[in-house]
Amino acid sequence: MEESRQLISSFDFLGAMSNIGDFFLTTLRCVGRFFSRFFLSCRYCFSPGDTACERCLEDALDTGMEREDLSSCLQVEYVFSGCAYKGAGRAFVLSAKHDLSFSADSFVEGIAIELSYKLAEKVSRKTHVAIIPVPSRARRRYSGRYISLDFARALAQQMVCRAQEKGEVLRVEVYDCLRLSPFDLGQRGRSGKQRRIQRKVYLRGKVKNLLPVILVDDVITTGTTVRSCAEVLRQGGMQILGICSLSSVAR
Ligand SMILES: [Zn+2]
Repeated sequence: MEESRQLISSFDFLGAMSNIGDFFLTTLRCVGRFFSRFFLSCRYCFSPGDTACERCLEDALDTGMEREDLSSCLQVEYVFSGCAYKGAGRAFVLSAKHDLSFSADSFVEGIAIELSYKLAEKVSRKTHVAIIPVPSRARRRYSGRYISLDFARALAQQMVCRAQEKGEVLRVEVYDCLRLSPFDLGQRGRSGKQRRIQRKVYLRGKVKNLLPVILVDDVITTGTTVRSCAEVLRQGGMQILGICSLSSVAR
């Protein structure tokens, strides 16, 4: 009798300790979440609250443009950019790529909506289109910061919405079928001349039906990466309709 009581009491003691541990951790997590709200601020103007405040988001979206200089040399009909790669737009693109505490959804979706209206006129006679994101290096692909793919998905969703509003039927598929060679060192820190050297892109797997393609990238500067991708896709027999990017350097 004495023994069993001891057993029970020791068991209770351990249970209580683990409960206290759980309780302590949960409290700590709640307190952390509560206070982190006060430390979140806009990545451009540092006003507290959202990581991309409404005013800066609007400012960035106002700088959207069409890169006509590139569309002729890339042999596509249009090159649309959601914002200029400067000021708020640049801050948000860089945060989306490198800052894990930045919530990129509102920024990416805002640009996808703007561009879907421009694209609606261009793809009005098409019924089936593919969106292919420009690849990034493997490290980013698996860290959850592969922003081109997020953008491609958001754009596909918005394009379908625009078609539905007009009573048309449009199927948009996202194919993540391009890869960068592991020997490619990326564009960061390269001079303009070095950037113009062709990048090593290859097609992974085959795209069914050979749909007309819209290429999607995060930043367009000289257009070298996009050109390499377009060439690879054309060699695979695909037709490139146009190019969309989150941001672009104004020329
Ligand atoms: Zn702001």
